[in-house]
Order: sequence, then C-alpha cells, then structure tokens
Amino acid sequence: MVTGVKSSKNNRTPQRTCIACRQTSEKKALIRLVRTRNGVIEVDISGRKPGRGAYVCLDRACWEAALKKNRLEYALRTKLGDENRQALSEYGHDLLEES
Ligand SMILES: [Zn+2]
Repeated sequence: MVTGVKSSKNNRTPQRTCIACRQTSEKKALIRLVRTRNGVIEVDISGRKPGRGAYVCLDRACWEAALKKNRLEYALRTKLGDENRQALSEYGHDLLEES
C-alpha cells in the first residue's frame, strides 16, 4: 500500500494535511480517523464514514504524536477516552508494523 514515492505537486489527487506533522500528502497516503456520533474516534479505512474527520500519515511517529499530543482530540473537537486511545494506539501499532 505504501509506495514511498513522494506525491507530485502537479496531479489532481486530493491532498490532505496530517494533523501530527502538518505535511500535505495524497489522501490515500493518509489514514482517516473519524469521530462517530457517540463521540468515539474510529479508524475510517473506507474514508467515507460520516462525521468530522482528521488525517494522519501512514507513519508510526505521526500516529503516536497524534494520539499522545492530543492533536486528534483537538482536530476532532472531542475527548479521547483511555480505552479509545488504547484501541487506536494498538490499531496503529498493527497497521504500521513492518512485516
Ligand atoms: Zn504526518
């Protein structure tokens, strides 16, 4: 999924900003997180779930920064509970683990 190829400035691919490092990348190079109606933050693999969304690079450092520095809470204007944070942390760990 991750190619490591830097996105060109001259394409029409949607660009999104990572909430952790503030770098802009192609949408597909980022993970979308969405705040559901009951205030829980979920990973949105499809990128189509309704609700306020935030994007994080497919990068362990960004993922952890987004969780640890409360960037996610700020971006999604919600409170991240301990269980929710733990679940996302584990998700990121699995998702971004090098095989
Ligand atoms: Zn990032």
